[in-house]
Amino acid sequence: MKPAFSLCVYCGSRTGNTDAFAQTAKAVGQWIGQHQGQLVYGGGNSGLMGIVAAATQQAGGRVVGIIPRALAEKEHARDDCDEFYLVDNMHQRKHMMAERADAFLALPGGIGTFEEFFEVWTWRQLGYHNKPIGLLNVDGYYDGLMAFMNTTVHGGFVYDWQMNLIQQSASLEQLLPLLIQEAGLSEGAGLDAI
Ligand code: AMP
Repeated sequence: MKPAFSLCVYCGSRTGNTDAFAQTAKAVGQWIGQHQGQLVYGGGNSGLMGIVAAATQQAGGRVVGIIPRALAEKEHARDDCDEFYLVDNMHQRKHMMAERADAFLALPGGIGTFEEFFEVWTWRQLGYHNKPIGLLNVDGYYDGLMAFMNTTVHGGFVYDWQMNLIQQSASLEQLLPLLIQEAGLSEGAGLDAI
Protein backbone atom coordinates (compact mmCIF):
# COMPACT_ATOMS: atom_id res chain seq x y z
CA MET A 1 0.00 0.00 0.00
CA LYS A 2 1.27 3.46 -0.89
CA PRO A 3 2.21 5.44 2.24
CA ALA A 4 0.07 8.48 3.06
CA PHE A 5 3.18 10.69 3.04
CA SER A 6 6.94 10.46 3.07
CA LEU A 7 8.80 12.41 5.74
CA CYS A 8 12.57 12.80 5.64
CA VAL A 9 13.98 13.05 9.16
CA TYR A 10 17.44 14.42 9.93
CA CYS A 11 18.68 13.74 13.46
CA GLY A 12 21.66 12.85 15.59
CA SER A 13 23.72 9.71 15.20
CA ARG A 14 23.99 10.00 19.00
CA THR A 15 21.17 10.15 21.53
CA GLY A 16 22.32 13.32 23.33
CA ASN A 17 22.32 13.86 27.07
CA THR A 18 18.63 14.42 27.74
CA ASP A 19 15.98 11.69 27.72
CA ALA A 20 13.60 14.08 25.98
CA PHE A 21 15.57 13.72 22.73
CA ALA A 22 15.20 9.93 22.55
CA GLN A 23 11.58 10.10 23.72
CA THR A 24 10.77 12.61 21.00
CA ALA A 25 12.56 10.60 18.30
CA LYS A 26 10.45 7.61 19.34
CA ALA A 27 7.27 9.70 19.34
CA VAL A 28 8.05 11.01 15.84
CA GLY A 29 8.49 7.44 14.55
CA GLN A 30 5.24 6.40 16.23
CA TRP A 31 3.43 9.37 14.71
CA ILE A 32 4.67 8.44 11.23
CA GLY A 33 3.60 4.80 11.68
CA GLN A 34 0.24 5.63 13.21
CA HIS A 35 -0.53 7.94 10.29
CA GLN A 36 0.41 5.31 7.66
CA GLY A 37 3.46 7.31 6.67
CA GLN A 38 6.94 6.57 5.44
CA LEU A 39 10.21 7.60 7.05
CA VAL A 40 13.12 8.49 4.79
CA TYR A 41 16.36 8.74 6.71
CA GLY A 42 20.09 8.09 6.69
CA GLY A 43 19.83 4.32 7.15
CA GLY A 44 21.84 4.02 10.36
CA ASN A 45 20.98 2.30 13.59
CA SER A 46 22.84 4.55 15.96
CA GLY A 47 21.52 7.36 18.13
CA LEU A 48 18.25 9.11 17.40
CA MET A 49 18.43 7.80 13.83
CA GLY A 50 18.03 4.20 15.00
CA ILE A 51 15.32 5.15 17.48
CA VAL A 52 13.12 6.95 14.95
CA ALA A 53 13.48 4.10 12.42
CA ALA A 54 12.64 1.35 14.94
CA ALA A 55 9.65 3.29 16.28
CA THR A 56 8.30 3.90 12.77
CA GLN A 57 8.47 0.22 11.87
CA GLN A 58 7.02 -0.88 15.22
CA ALA A 59 4.06 1.44 14.66
CA GLY A 60 3.40 -0.02 11.20
CA GLY A 61 5.13 2.65 9.09
CA ARG A 62 7.50 2.13 6.18
CA VAL A 63 11.19 2.95 6.41
CA VAL A 64 13.51 3.93 3.58
CA GLY A 65 17.18 3.97 4.64
CA ILE A 66 19.93 5.43 2.46
CA ILE A 67 23.55 5.23 3.56
CA PRO A 68 26.91 5.70 1.87
CA ARG A 69 28.79 2.38 1.59
CA ALA A 70 31.76 3.83 3.44
CA LEU A 71 29.62 4.71 6.48
CA ALA A 72 27.63 1.47 6.67
CA GLU A 73 29.76 -0.04 9.42
CA LYS A 74 30.42 3.14 11.37
CA GLU A 75 26.75 4.13 11.49
CA HIS A 76 25.50 0.53 12.01
CA ALA A 77 23.47 0.32 8.82
CA ARG A 78 19.93 -0.87 9.43
CA ASP A 79 19.52 -3.21 6.48
CA ASP A 80 16.10 -4.44 7.61
CA CYS A 81 14.54 -1.22 6.38
CA ASP A 82 11.59 -1.76 4.00
CA GLU A 83 13.82 -0.20 1.34
CA PHE A 84 17.54 -0.03 1.98
CA TYR A 85 20.12 1.56 -0.30
CA LEU A 86 23.91 1.49 -0.10
CA VAL A 87 25.03 4.44 -2.20
CA ASP A 88 28.43 5.59 -3.42
CA ASN A 89 28.76 8.85 -1.55
CA MET A 90 27.16 11.46 0.70
CA HIS A 91 25.96 13.54 -2.23
CA GLN A 92 23.93 10.62 -3.60
CA ARG A 93 22.51 9.94 -0.15
CA LYS A 94 21.31 13.49 0.38
CA HIS A 95 19.96 13.83 -3.14
CA MET A 96 18.02 10.58 -2.90
CA MET A 97 16.68 11.40 0.55
CA ALA A 98 15.45 14.75 -0.73
CA GLU A 99 13.85 13.19 -3.81
CA ARG A 100 12.00 10.56 -1.80
CA ALA A 101 10.60 13.08 0.70
CA ASP A 102 7.38 15.10 0.67
CA ALA A 103 8.63 17.15 3.62
CA PHE A 104 11.70 17.46 5.86
CA LEU A 105 12.03 17.46 9.62
CA ALA A 106 15.13 18.10 11.72
CA LEU A 107 15.31 16.79 15.29
CA PRO A 108 18.19 17.49 17.67
CA GLY A 109 21.51 16.37 16.31
CA GLY A 110 25.06 17.39 15.57
CA ILE A 111 26.87 18.94 12.65
CA GLY A 112 25.66 16.25 10.20
CA THR A 113 22.07 17.14 11.08
CA PHE A 114 22.77 20.88 10.78
CA GLU A 115 24.38 20.44 7.38
CA GLU A 116 21.43 18.47 6.04
CA PHE A 117 18.87 20.90 7.48
CA PHE A 118 20.63 23.99 6.12
CA GLU A 119 21.15 22.34 2.77
CA VAL A 120 17.45 21.63 2.16
CA TRP A 121 16.69 25.15 3.41
CA THR A 122 19.11 26.67 0.91
CA TRP A 123 17.82 24.39 -1.85
CA ARG A 124 14.34 25.68 -1.10
CA GLN A 125 15.35 29.34 -1.22
CA LEU A 126 16.93 28.64 -4.61
CA GLY A 127 13.72 27.02 -5.87
CA TYR A 128 15.13 23.50 -6.35
CA HIS A 129 12.20 22.20 -4.36
CA ASN A 130 9.16 23.59 -2.62
CA LYS A 131 8.78 21.02 0.15
CA PRO A 132 7.99 22.02 3.73
CA ILE A 133 10.87 22.06 6.22
CA GLY A 134 10.39 21.78 9.97
CA LEU A 135 12.66 22.17 12.96
CA LEU A 136 11.49 20.38 16.09
CA ASN A 137 12.86 22.41 18.94
CA VAL A 138 12.90 19.69 21.60
CA ASP A 139 13.57 20.96 25.11
CA GLY A 140 14.87 24.30 23.79
CA TYR A 141 17.71 22.57 21.92
CA TYR A 142 17.48 24.99 19.00
CA ASP A 143 16.76 28.18 20.99
CA GLY A 144 20.35 29.35 20.52
CA LEU A 145 20.25 28.67 16.77
CA MET A 146 16.98 30.56 16.39
CA ALA A 147 18.39 33.48 18.39
CA PHE A 148 21.39 33.52 16.09
CA MET A 149 19.13 33.40 13.03
CA ASN A 150 17.42 36.54 14.35
CA THR A 151 20.86 38.13 14.53
CA THR A 152 21.40 37.28 10.87
CA VAL A 153 18.08 38.94 9.97
CA HIS A 154 18.94 42.07 11.99
CA GLY A 155 22.40 42.02 10.42
CA GLY A 156 20.89 42.23 6.95
CA PHE A 157 22.17 38.89 5.62
CA VAL A 158 18.95 36.92 5.84
CA TYR A 159 15.49 38.17 4.88
CA ASP A 160 12.21 37.44 6.62
CA TRP A 161 10.94 35.56 3.56
CA GLN A 162 13.86 33.15 3.93
CA MET A 163 13.03 32.61 7.60
CA ASN A 164 9.45 31.94 6.57
CA LEU A 165 10.60 28.95 4.48
CA ILE A 166 10.97 26.90 7.65
CA GLN A 167 8.49 26.04 10.40
CA GLN A 168 9.69 25.58 13.91
CA SER A 169 7.89 24.35 16.98
CA ALA A 170 8.51 22.62 20.28
CA SER A 171 5.47 20.42 19.70
CA LEU A 172 5.48 17.49 17.31
CA GLU A 173 1.67 17.28 17.48
CA GLN A 174 1.60 20.81 16.09
CA LEU A 175 4.49 20.62 13.64
CA LEU A 176 4.05 17.27 11.89
CA PRO A 177 0.45 17.78 10.69
CA LEU A 178 1.43 21.24 9.47
CA LEU A 179 4.29 19.84 7.37
CA ILE A 180 2.15 17.07 5.89
CA GLN A 181 -0.66 19.51 5.09
CA GLU A 182 1.74 21.85 3.36
CA ALA A 183 3.31 19.04 1.37
CA GLY A 184 0.65 19.50 -1.30
CA LEU A 185 2.62 22.54 -2.52
CA SER A 186 3.69 23.10 -6.10
CA GLU A 187 6.94 21.72 -7.48
CA GLY A 188 10.26 23.53 -7.45
CA ALA A 189 12.75 23.52 -10.34
CA GLY A 190 13.60 19.90 -9.53
CA LEU A 191 16.43 18.45 -7.52
CA ASP A 192 18.22 17.35 -10.67
CA ALA A 193 19.04 21.02 -11.21
CA ILE A 194 21.51 20.81 -8.31
P1 AMP B 1 25.17 14.03 13.41
O1 AMP B 1 24.04 15.00 13.50
O2 AMP B 1 26.51 14.70 13.28
O3 AMP B 1 25.14 13.00 14.51
O4 AMP B 1 24.99 13.25 12.04
C1 AMP B 1 23.73 12.78 11.66
C2 AMP B 1 23.84 12.16 10.29
O5 AMP B 1 24.30 13.15 9.38
C3 AMP B 1 24.81 10.99 10.16
O6 AMP B 1 24.16 9.96 9.44
C4 AMP B 1 25.93 11.53 9.32
O7 AMP B 1 26.46 10.56 8.42
C5 AMP B 1 25.24 12.57 8.51
N1 AMP B 1 26.21 13.53 8.02
C6 AMP B 1 27.42 13.81 8.48
N2 AMP B 1 28.07 14.70 7.70
C7 AMP B 1 27.23 14.99 6.72
C8 AMP B 1 27.27 15.82 5.58
N3 AMP B 1 28.33 16.56 5.27
N4 AMP B 1 26.19 15.85 4.81
C9 AMP B 1 25.12 15.14 5.10
N5 AMP B 1 25.02 14.33 6.13
C10 AMP B 1 26.05 14.24 6.94
